[in-house]
This record gives sequence, structure tokens and C-alpha cells, in this order.
Amino acid sequence: QEQTLAVIKPDAMEGHKEEILGEISKGGFTISHLKETVLTREMAEEFYREHREKPFFSQLVDFMCRGPCLMLVLTKENAVEEWRAMMGPTDPEKARETAPQSLRARFAKDVLENTVHGSSDQQHAAEKIHFIFGDISAD
Ligand code: ATP
Ligand code: MG
Repeated sequence: QEQTLAVIKPDAMEGHKEEILGEISKGGFTISHLKETVLTREMAEEFYREHREKPFFSQLVDFMCRGPCLMLVLTKENAVEEWRAMMGPTDPEKARETAPQSLRARFAKDVLENTVHGSSDQQHAAEKIHFIFGDISAD
């Protein structure tokens, strides 16, 4: 079984947290670790460090530490790809066209405030799970 890191981002924490958790469970994922956190700027910068040269980086960091995030380790066969599919494309306008059932199509405001994060591959998943939860490999 594969693991991925999922994050419910600050824009979705007030209005959509329970519904997203329901979808995760309906999707057949097991939640092995879960933690609500307000990221510091330093943590948000590190979390999205691969985007540090992008023009939207400072907006992204501001957004991610604006309020609590829910961090989740999801386990399922093919978890990385399946969670990305449930999220839908980065831009909700595109998501509404191509994946209307996806979480971003349903809940996201725009390309920045887009409701959820998911690791893009297994290496990235292992790295970010370690960054958020520390060494949980023995749990
Ligand atoms: P995530 O990594 O959060 O799962 P993603 O893999 O779909 O999202 P990335 O390209 O990794 O998309 O971008 C990371 C995040 O940066 C996006 O989820 C979004 O919050 C923000 N972002 C991406 N593109 C833009 C943009 N053009 N303008 C503003 N914010 C953006
Ligand atoms: Mg990404």
C-alpha cells in the first residue's frame, strides 16, 4: 500500500473540512496520521520550496499560513495518483470543465486558494510526510 500527504488548505477549513473528510473516507483511503496546524512562514516556505522562484510564491506562503491546515497521511493502493485525481486540476476553472466532481471543481475559489494539496509522486510524498510528521515509519 502506498502513502501520500494530503493537506486541507486554509480556504477550505471553515466551510468544507467535514465534507472533504467524508469524500476521503468514501474514496477508500485510510487516514493513518492527522494533525491540524497553523504553518509558520518558514514552514510554508520550506513546504513549497520547489516553487520559490515562481511569481506567486509570496502569495502562496501568505495564503498557506493564514489559518489552520489539516495535514493527513492517506494510505491506499495507488494513493498518490488517486488522491491527485480526487483533487482535480490546480485551477478550479479548468477543474470545472474537465473534472466537475473533483474537490477543486466543487470548492476552490481560484488557482491560489484551491482547497487541497497532494504529493505529486512517491518521493515527494515520503519527503513531505517526514517534514510534517517526523519519523513515522515505525508506527
Ligand atoms: P499542490 O502542490 O498544492 O498540490 P498542484 O500540484 O496542483 O498543487 P503546483 O503547481 O504544485 O500545483 O502549485 C502549488 C500551489 O501554488 C497551487 O496548489 C496553488 O495554491 C498555487 N499556485 C499554482 N499556480 C498558481 C498561479 N498561477 N497563481 C497563484 N497561485 C498558484
Ligand atoms: Mg504541487
